[in-house]
Amino acid sequence: MKALLCYNQNEFKLEEIDRPGILKDEMLIEMIYTGLCGSDIVKIFDPAVKKPAVFGHEVVGRVVEAGKNITRFKSGDVVVAAHHIPCYRCHYCLHGNHSMCRRFKETNIYPGSFCQYIRLSKEHIRYTTFKIPPDSNLLEALFIEPLACCIRAVDRVTFRKDDVFSVVGTGIIGMLFIQLIKLSGGRVVAIDLDNNRLSMARFLGAAYTINPSNQNVVQEIKDITDIGVDIAILSVTNKYTLNDALLYLRDGGTVNIFGASGKESRFGIDFESVYKRELTIMSSYSATPETLRRAYDIIASRKINLSPLISEIMPLSDFKKGLDLMLKRKIYKAIFKL
Ligand SMILES: [Zn+2]
Ligand SMILES: [Zn+2]
Repeated sequence: MKALLCYNQNEFKLEEIDRPGILKDEMLIEMIYTGLCGSDIVKIFDPAVKKPAVFGHEVVGRVVEAGKNITRFKSGDVVVAAHHIPCYRCHYCLHGNHSMCRRFKETNIYPGSFCQYIRLSKEHIRYTTFKIPPDSNLLEALFIEPLACCIRAVDRVTFRKDDVFSVVGTGIIGMLFIQLIKLSGGRVVAIDLDNNRLSMARFLGAAYTINPSNQNVVQEIKDITDIGVDIAILSVTNKYTLNDALLYLRDGGTVNIFGASGKESRFGIDFESVYKRELTIMSSYSATPETLRRAYDIIASRKINLSPLISEIMPLSDFKKGLDLMLKRKIYKAIFKL
């Protein structure tokens, strides 16, 4: 079968590799669509991640072979699947830190979604695989995993109805956050350097927008909220976005770090202010089977608008083009059709 091997950030090759075999508790899925996630981009650029490798974890595909012990799915079913599964028994899981579970980190679809066929294990089938009804929009199903990550991030912060959130960065994740927070009863100030994206943010439900390239974020937020925002969600994390957030949070507010900060992850922050103003700095990483289920329901019931976030659909041979378009912020998400 064909698979996209990443050798480094500039070199991707479609190569022939063995199609995975399956055991009686497993399934073979023929990929239909896969999306490029920000976390794949982090892995592509991280020299510490072993290469060549097949990346990708957003799966919409068709069951082509179901092991004889599989009863919930049959050949021909169209499914969406996600890659990590917690054990639900370890110290991390019992404390709600499911994405820190060692089993969570080890589990993955094989070999990765950027190829023609993948294998789903017994645990994947049990916890993170959902059948898609025949009349569904298959492209929208690709957003279940990223939305599930956002749902977990919103679950992890405490807020009341009408509380104000800042959403920093209006890429795909920011746009999902804006709609999800609105759905959860919060109001959103969207912050981004790109005016086109800010208009889209308003269209999708942001109550206010700020462009730091020509507006003073801290002052604007003071004008909007008086006391500052209750929660800041950083889908872009760097010294500017974090330090700004610490300035414009209300006393007792929370900043939730959602986006990776990459190489520039060491910088100073004003701990005296964190202490005296009782600020909370926390993070949220990945999704759980429960948030995947909820994301599935939100998308199936069309509670959020995904169509403006879907543009070009490319063949996997155009992977580099898709990556470049996403890095240059020309498209929200690179989507590949197998
Ligand atoms: Zn992802
Ligand atoms: Zn665990």
